[in-house]
Amino acid sequence: MEPVVQFDQINKSYGKHVAVDNLNLSIEGGKFVTLLGPSGCGKSTSLRMLGGFETPTSGRILLSGKDVTRVPPNKRNVNIVFQDYALFPHMNVAKNIAFGLELKGLDNQRIHRRVSELLELVQLQDYAHRLPAELSGGQRQRVALMRALAPDPDVLLLDEPLSALDAKLRQQMQIELKAIQEKTGKTFMFVTHDQEEALTMSDTIVVMNKGRIEQMGDPDTLYGRPGSVFVANFIGETNLLRSTVLGVEGDTASLNWNGITITANQGGLTPKPGEHLYVVLRPESIHCSVTEPATGNRIKGKIRQRVFKGNHTSLSVDVGDGTLLNALVHPSDVAQLSGEDIWVGWKAETSTVIPDRQAHN
Ligand code: ADP
Repeated sequence: MEPVVQFDQINKSYGKHVAVDNLNLSIEGGKFVTLLGPSGCGKSTSLRMLGGFETPTSGRILLSGKDVTRVPPNKRNVNIVFQDYALFPHMNVAKNIAFGLELKGLDNQRIHRRVSELLELVQLQDYAHRLPAELSGGQRQRVALMRALAPDPDVLLLDEPLSALDAKLRQQMQIELKAIQEKTGKTFMFVTHDQEEALTMSDTIVVMNKGRIEQMGDPDTLYGRPGSVFVANFIGETNLLRSTVLGVEGDTASLNWNGITITANQGGLTPKPGEHLYVVLRPESIHCSVTEPATGNRIKGKIRQRVFKGNHTSLSVDVGDGTLLNALVHPSDVAQLSGEDIWVGWKAETSTVIPDRQAHN
């Protein structure tokens, strides 16, 4: 199947500053794709180039196979939703949604049918005649979304649309946004610096760093098998154990970490004895117990800090010479860990090795 969006060797510079650095990206239709990365890594610039609001310094952008690099925004079949919604304050909900359809010159009957269909999709049938000022934040967000979807764009671009909402509404809208994407089968391209938001909604996450793609994949893969220190640190919490390879057997590498032999999944690399690598060990992969585990990696440690987080407790465990491991303990297991001395254990396959390098150094 032909990709809906293709960035082909896209570069964008502002003077001497490189905002987007040789971006190559193909996006399949019907997917929720998120550009994720720290502030200034080039996410919005990439999105704006696809929308036609910025012109690439070099390279091509294809939309459904057609080169649109020099096509103005209103001639591209894409639409964008901004953080501030930008609804027309003097028009009611139905008129706001109908706006793009009127521009397209659709007849009244078709406009009416489409607006009703979209209002129903977000359960706002009873709000058609309200003005934006008479709606809640969440309702305004839904109207902005429906207005952007009304003309049936090939891709809907969303530039941090939820960042102005409070935490609870934001979580609710994340789930709703994903449901709307699934129901409509549209391609959504979403920009955020919030890793949790990206994990919640996306089919595919494109992690960007300094204008380049650092890693691309589904949320499970990025979380479970990060390809670099940057991705491991950016997505979720993690312990990074700088280790030296001792050997590999099947999928499992054995490594020396601070004089302790540990095992980890080799993560698709072919580690060589003597090579320095990092082992990514997520806090929830660690099991804490008072007795020594029978199998797997196990190290004696001392609890240095306990932080109660409601649905879990976060432990900071000294495993020797002040080296700390973060572990996540479920409420039912906390009670038995009353003393300071414990064992931390984990199975090799729940940790993975990644190269010992920072990206682009
Ligand atoms: P992000 O969306 O990831 O926060 P942006 O794409 O907005 O990042 O910006 C990428 C880089 O390009 C940043 O360093 C930013 O300062 C720079 N930049 C963006 N827009 C402009 C502009 N209009 N003029 C000059 N520099 C810009």
